[in-house]
Amino acid sequence: MKLSSLFNSDKTILSFEVFPPKKTSPIETVYSTLAELKELNPAFISVTYGAGGNAADTTTCDIAAYIQRELGIPSAAHLTCVYSTKEGVLTQLQQFKERGVENILALRGDVNPEIPRLHEFEYASDLTKFIKENGDFHVSGACYPECHLEASSLAEDIKHLKIKVEAGAEHLMSQLFFDNNTFHRFREMADIAGINVPIEAGIMPVVNKKQIERMVSMCGASLPSKFAKMMQRYEHNPEALRDAGIAYAVDQIVDLISNGVDGIHLYTMNNPYVARKISEAVRSLL
Ligand code: FAD
Repeated sequence: MKLSSLFNSDKTILSFEVFPPKKTSPIETVYSTLAELKELNPAFISVTYGAGGNAADTTTCDIAAYIQRELGIPSAAHLTCVYSTKEGVLTQLQQFKERGVENILALRGDVNPEIPRLHEFEYASDLTKFIKENGDFHVSGACYPECHLEASSLAEDIKHLKIKVEAGAEHLMSQLFFDNNTFHRFREMADIAGINVPIEAGIMPVVNKKQIERMVSMCGASLPSKFAKMMQRYEHNPEALRDAGIAYAVDQIVDLISNGVDGIHLYTMNNPYVARKISEAVRSLL
């Protein structure tokens, strides 16, 4: 099922993100996580791709196909292009088609200064256009409420986002953020720029302090003092930190839904316990 059929103006959808298991773990380890996530009835599940510049990742397709075919849940496969050739992407699209994967989150991917770029695709918008020209896929794109790290301003980043939407991105999923005001401001600016595709807010609950610090250093999300105080107070009590993190995420989601957000994209970190707690807390609001 294509993701476009999931969005309508009176409903907020809840979707999940999972990542493939590490290369040292069998793919089946993610299947037990997925079985638990299925019970939470997500609108769709997306599967990350080759984070850290590793483009040769076939497990994303395997897992996305499994979600779609075996679990009967729409899936979206992430696909990066910064280290890909056009021929490589065509092979990948063929695989998606054969395996029944209909939705792709088209990404540029992070640039690793130690690996020379191929320059067949400069930006995610180039990949988006290429996918649209070479197959019948629903294409989503990434967006950054606090501005992408390489962009000189949010206004400039949104100008580039508009190019991505014009190239064929039909839906956007946001980078994680902990201050809802950044998302509200971003949505307003995107609106003014004429970006009128559904935008899902990316929410990452705190699972542990190290994980959040790593994510924040990678994506540059700012930490409101309420959030920083919570991490500080409970940093040596993992159970309390997890519960406080769940409560914080629920609070963010309630505010987003009250403000008419199109969807919540939950970064599950492959942790069904946390996904369950959050889903149960917000289910009646969706
Ligand atoms: P782009 O949209 O191409 O933007 C990258 C930069 O280029 C921005 O600064 C933008 O302003 C600028 N730009 C864009 N177009 C133009 C233009 N025409 N002219 C000039 N400048 C331009 N990474 C992974 O490796 N695997 C994943 O699975 C993954 N999943 C993600 C999921 C989500 C929801 C998000 C938000 C990010 C994800 N990432 C993933 C990280 C992503 O690959 C990085 O953030 C990357 O640095 C940018 O990718 P992009 O698709 O947003 O790039």
